[in-house]
Amino acid sequence: MTPAQPTVRPPLSPRDDVALMDGYHSPQVDVAVRLNTNESPHPPPAAWREALAAELADVAWHRYPDRAALGLRRAIGELHAVGPEQVLAANGSNEVLQTLLLAYGGAGRTAATFEPTYALHSHIARITGTDVAVGERTDDLALDLEEVGRVLATAEPAITFLCSPNNPTGGVETEETVRSVVDMAPGLVVVDEAYGQFAPWSALAVVDDGTPLAVTRTYSKTWSMAGARLGYLVGPAWLVADLEKVVLPYHLDVVKQAAGRLALEYRDEMEARVAEVIEERGRVVAVLGGLDVDVWPSGANFVLFRPRTRRGETVWQGLLDRSVLVRNCASWPRLDDCLRVTIGTRAEDDAFLAALAEVLG
Ligand SMILES: *Cc1c(COP(=O)(O)O)cnc(C)c1O
Repeated sequence: MTPAQPTVRPPLSPRDDVALMDGYHSPQVDVAVRLNTNESPHPPPAAWREALAAELADVAWHRYPDRAALGLRRAIGELHAVGPEQVLAANGSNEVLQTLLLAYGGAGRTAATFEPTYALHSHIARITGTDVAVGERTDDLALDLEEVGRVLATAEPAITFLCSPNNPTGGVETEETVRSVVDMAPGLVVVDEAYGQFAPWSALAVVDDGTPLAVTRTYSKTWSMAGARLGYLVGPAWLVADLEKVVLPYHLDVVKQAAGRLALEYRDEMEARVAEVIEERGRVVAVLGGLDVDVWPSGANFVLFRPRTRRGETVWQGLLDRSVLVRNCASWPRLDDCLRVTIGTRAEDDAFLAALAEVLG
């Protein structure tokens, strides 16, 4: 549980724009079935833990880590068939997003988002003093290229955020859509692919030095390493060089660099996990189809759904009463009554589906 808020009146105030902000909230509650934060249901392979432990036994703890994290970036680059100069690694893809906003956003600049999407795009933009231009999606929560064109023409954003598969809707943008947005955008386009491995297509295919496009990825979801806090970006070399100017020196500790580099040696295990999640997703969506809920098509490891005849809040609480925690989006703007469930193990998904059927009566 989150510790209680301080009750003493603080003697100082932060920056005015920060004082007005709400923090980012994702409650951590003790339950039997936790399907609210899109983590992998499985820990990383045991062989990876052993390899990491062996490497850590030899770490020179009195020395700073490799500042450029070259071994890690090389390994990531090999995974995606690019050089290390096209890779920036950071403490979670959230730090990648922050780094992008520190370098290309800031006072007097704008970032565009198309809502509903990942809340941290606009949240981190505001923290860095970047204005946010908010575009709408269609009624079925898909990206609307006319609206994208309108927002980009009026707001002239330095950064345009796409998210594919989009969190929390699960929708995947096509190559054609990504290319059209890149053509329309006056600045950088960032495609957040935190769930990219679960989708049939990746914008990594569009990255090259002549295109102002960056793709962000994370170890948190696919690589079963949310605890490690490691994410990265693949983009043009000139962009990575700019980003390196704003990251803190030695921001990637020696443990994380080793953890991320060694994990990539277990690609087959990871691909097997992804395949299992995709298969489970198909099964969960099929069962949901037989219940009294609307379901959005998903290319990710989660599914957004909306009870047709019950309030989302009531259903969320009913699930929680049965020790199943899903993400409560019911009160989020544009997502009235919606809930988002992470795909778990077969047993977890069965517990969720049984509890949901019971709650829906
Ligand atoms: C989970 C998530 C992230 C966060 O990734 P970290 O690497 O854990 O910081 C980024 N983007 C989206 C869309 C996510 O859902």
